[in-house]
Amino acid sequence: MNQVLQSRIPVAVLGATGMVGQRFIELLQNHPWFDLVALAASDRHDGRPYGEVTNWRLSGSDMPATVALLPVLACRPDALPGIKIAFSALPGEIAGDIERAFAEAGVAVFSNAKNYRMESDVPLLIPEVNPSHSIAIIEQRKRRNWSGCIVTNANCCATPLVMALKPLQQAFGLRKILVTTLQAVSGAGYPGVPSYDILDNVIPYISSEEEKLEIETLKMLGSWKEGEGFTNAPAVVSAHCNRVATREGHLECVSVELEREATPEQLIAAWENFIPEPQQLKLPTAPAQALLYRHEIDRPQTLRDRDAGNGMTVSIGRLRRCPILSYKFVALGHNTIRGAAGGSILNAELFVSKGLL
Ligand code: NAP
Repeated sequence: MNQVLQSRIPVAVLGATGMVGQRFIELLQNHPWFDLVALAASDRHDGRPYGEVTNWRLSGSDMPATVALLPVLACRPDALPGIKIAFSALPGEIAGDIERAFAEAGVAVFSNAKNYRMESDVPLLIPEVNPSHSIAIIEQRKRRNWSGCIVTNANCCATPLVMALKPLQQAFGLRKILVTTLQAVSGAGYPGVPSYDILDNVIPYISSEEEKLEIETLKMLGSWKEGEGFTNAPAVVSAHCNRVATREGHLECVSVELEREATPEQLIAAWENFIPEPQQLKLPTAPAQALLYRHEIDRPQTLRDRDAGNGMTVSIGRLRRCPILSYKFVALGHNTIRGAAGGSILNAELFVSKGLL
C-alpha cells in the first residue's frame, strides 16, 4: 500500500541533535506518510532553533532549511502536543522514562534505545524478519494500560546479522551462529570514540554489545503467539564485537551451522529469492532488495557497499564452506540507517500498513 495517505501523520524526533536523530531528519524529508513537525532533545537547548544548536554531521546532505527553523523542545509529551508518532534516538540512560511517558500519553514510540527491547510484550522488530511480532502491542496496550505503544528496533549489528540469517533459517534451519563484527565509530554516537584511541587501532571491546547481539538475535528469529508471548529461536549465538576506524557501516564475519545439508548455490538462492513483507507491500522506506548477494571475491566492503539501497539493503558475500560449522560468509549493514533511523521508520510504516497505530 505505497499510497499517499489522506493527510500525513504528524511525527517528532526525540534526540534530534545526535547521530541517529540527524539520520531521522534526513530520511523523513518529503516522506509520503509522515510529517516531521517537532524536534526534541535535552532541556539545555531551551527552545532555540535546530539550526542554531546543532552541528550537522551527515555528509552528502545539508540540514533541511525548514528543519533549521524548528525549535528544539524538551522531551515531554506536553511540550510536543498533537504528535502521533515519536521516533526516539535517545541514549539508553534516559530513554526508559521518557518513552514510557509518551506511550502513556497515546503516542506510538519507535525506539532505537536498548531499554524495552527484551520486554515480554514489546516487539523487537525488523519488518523483513519478524513482522508477525508487531501484534504483540495489542497485549502491551492492555497489560500496561497505554493508549500509545513502544516498538523497538535492534542493536545496529544485530540487524544485518538477523536479516542475513532469516532466509537460511527458513530454508535450512539454524543451530549455531558465530559472528565477529567490525563496527564503525558512528555506532558510538557523537563524539563517540576519541580519535587518538581509534586511529591506527582496533578496539576488541564494545560495552554490552556482545550480550545484546547474542540475545536480540534469538528473540527476532523466534516466534510470538497470543497468550504465550515470545519464544526464542532454538539456536545459540556467540559474538565478538570490535570497534574499527570506519565512519559508517558494520561489517560482520559469520559462521553458521545449519540443521539440514545444503549446497552453496541453495544458500545464495535463498538470499536472492528473499522477498519479504515490506518489499511485497512496497513500503516507502523498503529498498527494492532487502538482501544483495555480491559475487565478487572481495565484497561486500564497508566503504563501497554500505549505501546499497539508500543504506537499507544488507549486502552479503564471500560464502564458503566452514571447516568447523557448515558455512561462513560476510554481511554488511549501514548502522545509522538500516540499523537505526531507517529501520525505525520502516517499522512505523509497517504499523501504518497493518492499521496498528
Ligand atoms: P548521540 O549522538 O549521543 O545522540 C543522543 C541524543 O540524545 C542527542 O540528541 C542528545 O541531545 C539527546 N539527549 C542526551 N541527553 C538527553 C536528555 N537528558 N534528555 C533528552 N535528550 C537527551 O547518540 P546516537 O548515536 O544518536 O544514539 C541514539 C540512540 O540510538 C542510543 O540509544 C543508541 O544506543 C541507539 N543506536 C545508535 C546507533 C548508531 O549507529 N549510532 C544504532 C542503533 C541504535 P543534546 O543535544 O541535548 O545532548
